[in-house]
Amino acid sequence: MNKVIEVIEGDITTVQVDAIVNAANEQLAGGGGVDGAIHRAGGPTIMAECREIGSCPTGQAVMTNGGKLPADKVIHTVGPVWSGGNQKEAELLASCYRNSLILAEEYQLKRIAFPNISTGVYGYPKKEAARIAVQTVEDTLRNLDYVEEVVFVCFDEENESIYKESLGHN
Ligand code: ADP
Repeated sequence: MNKVIEVIEGDITTVQVDAIVNAANEQLAGGGGVDGAIHRAGGPTIMAECREIGSCPTGQAVMTNGGKLPADKVIHTVGPVWSGGNQKEAELLASCYRNSLILAEEYQLKRIAFPNISTGVYGYPKKEAARIAVQTVEDTLRNLDYVEEVVFVCFDEENESIYKESLGHN
């Protein structure tokens, strides 16, 4: 089956796919950055489901409704906080992308959009994070049946050009 990986610059809360991924925290408590934007745009039903779920360990993923978002579902994954690179950050970041896609597959979803997990407040170096994201998504997609398309939604031009370069989309 044909798989598609796309890169766009923009706001993930406006993207119409089966699920958008949120860069959440372990408490699923909402916060700033993309997490705050998703809860603001999606409304209170997302947080209500987060409270029922309770928490999510770093590297894992959970799913909620998408509230008022154009996306049907939100996959909340928790990226690692960058602390120099010797705290299993790379492994945990790869797990975020892999586990989000596996969860999407379990729900038989086709089109998934990711933000640049951990590259905001959590401080992960952007180029290294993009390399892990692209490699993990390419590797995981090969083994999935339902998930056909992944969109990397970059909030800034720097990330957009890093991703386009990593994917050979220039
Ligand atoms: P983390 O805590 O995982 O670093 P952040 O939300 O601080 O999460 O940042 C993750 C990435 O999401 C950053 O690259 C940031 O620029 C980006 N971002 C922030 N708001 C949005 C948005 N509305 N849509 C897409 N990406 C966003």
